[in-house]
Formats: sequence, structure tokens, C-alpha cells
Amino acid sequence: MNLSYPSYLKLYEEGELEKRVEEAYKLLGRCRVCPRECGVNRLKGEKGFCKVDAELMVSSFHSHFGEEPPISGYRGSGTIFFTHCSLRCLFCQNYPISHLGNGNQISPPQLSQMMLSLQKKGSHNINLVTPTHFTPQILFGLLLAVKKGLNIPLVYNSSGYEKVETLRLLEDVVDIYMPDMKYGDPEKSKEFSFAPDYFEAAKRAIKEMYRQVGNLKLNGEGIAQRGLLVRHLILPNKGAGTRKVFSFLKEEISPAIYLSIMSQYFPAYRAGEFKQLNRKITRQEYEEALHIASELGLKRGWRQG
Ligand code: SF4
Repeated sequence: MNLSYPSYLKLYEEGELEKRVEEAYKLLGRCRVCPRECGVNRLKGEKGFCKVDAELMVSSFHSHFGEEPPISGYRGSGTIFFTHCSLRCLFCQNYPISHLGNGNQISPPQLSQMMLSLQKKGSHNINLVTPTHFTPQILFGLLLAVKKGLNIPLVYNSSGYEKVETLRLLEDVVDIYMPDMKYGDPEKSKEFSFAPDYFEAAKRAIKEMYRQVGNLKLNGEGIAQRGLLVRHLILPNKGAGTRKVFSFLKEEISPAIYLSIMSQYFPAYRAGEFKQLNRKITRQEYEEALHIASELGLKRGWRQG
């Protein structure tokens, strides 16, 4: 076994992965896993903003070929969709899973089996979609999977609304961070995600992720090995604060950041109630975003047609 990659193998050998699981579970007693810091006791069945207690819930798991090329590669990304969300945007493109909680309760041993079966199918990685509120349970599932031979890297695929203290528990556990950076404007994040502190929290989180893993590194086949990939979904009517987001990424993270600029917004869930969100984006709006990236010298990443 090569103990240096994925990084969690070394942590496991040193007994540190088990300690991280214990540390993470302590956060659930007065929940402060994410920036909402609800303070509920999830171990006793209480639920906070994300609407889940200590039980793990998964909507689906499968090999996914529609992620960015370095993530899906040619054998697919082993995607596990967790139900509910600690951000809960009113335009959520996955709202049946994140808002309505469509999915099934599973145990950490079952999660470990899902990881192992995705590895057996040949997936390049385990892609944890909306993992934040289940970080302790995921660490437990990972520990069990590593004991049974898991050896592909983890992709932490999140909203970007994260706490640095929780991310520190993931240092050298997660090799690839794939956060969104959704808003650059507190009024918008307040109105559409009930999180006026989104930009500030996401800035701190992305700095921490970058500190841990650096810029995205690919292997000879173009598959992500380790590093940071930031996603930015363009919203209609400049709702995503694209210039502020890209300026932060260039100036405070790296001009060589791998940036995925996404055009697939459609008015899902309650978006139809808001004039500003009630349509797809135009070609011109997407081109404007590409232009801002190019003007700032952010050349690396994935652009949609
Ligand atoms: S993970 Fe859920 S309960 Fe915990 S602080 Fe975040 S929203 Fe609240």
C-alpha cells in the first residue's frame, strides 16, 4: 500500500483518522459543524437549520460522468449525494434532495460499503456532494472503508459555506476540494440563502482549503490528484457578484486557480417568486463572466459551451 496517497492512508496508519472521527462527533453535541452554529444537540435527535439529527441520509450514489473533466475523467466520479443542506438556496438546482430531503437513512457502515462499491466500479474518486452537515458521520464511514481497502481520493463538493474549524478536521483526509463560491454580495446571500455572512465565510473557507491542498494538480491523464477547484454558477441579473468573487480568487487565492464557470442555472424551487431569479441566464451574461475572468487573468479551468 502506498501510504502517501490518498492522504487519508497515512492518517489512518498513524491512528489520527480515528481521532478525527472522535473530534468531529463532539461537534454534534452542540452543533457547530457549519457557520450557522445552531447549538442543537444532534446526538439527542435535535435538528437545526439543516433539518438533520445524527442519522446519516443519502439520496443516491453512482458513477457520474457529468462533472468537470478532471473529476469525472474517463471512468466517472464516484458520487454520493447527501440529503438536506446547511445553506438551502431558494433557487437550489437539487431542491428535492437538499430541501425536501428525498433519500434514505443509512449507517456509517453502509456508507463505507457505498464507497467501496464505487471504487470497485473503477471510479477515479469518491465525490461527496453536499457533505458539510454530515462531516462527522462521513469521517466515520471513511474510517471503516479504509479498513476494508478504500484507496481512491475524496472530493469534498460543497456550497462553500464552511467553518474553518471543521475543515481543519479534514486536513490530509480530503485531497480535492471542490467548493462553490456562490455570491459576492451579502444582500443577495441573505435574500436567497438566509446567509448574510456567506461571502466572508466562503472566503475564509476557500483560503483554508487552498492552504491545505494548493492549486489543482492533474496526473498524466488529466485526472485531478490533489488541489482546489472552485465553481461559480452565474445567476441572472448579476446576482452572483461575479466580479467580486473572481477578484477575491485572483488576489487572495491564486491567479492559477482552477475555476469552473457554470452556465446551467434555471429557475428551480422557489426562484419563480423572485423577479431577479425567474429566468435562465442569457448568452451575453455568461460571456460577460468569461470576459471578467479573462480580464483578471484567470485562465485555468472549465468553461461551458
Ligand atoms: S450543521 Fe446543521 S445543525 Fe449544525 S450548525 Fe450547521 S445548520 Fe446548524
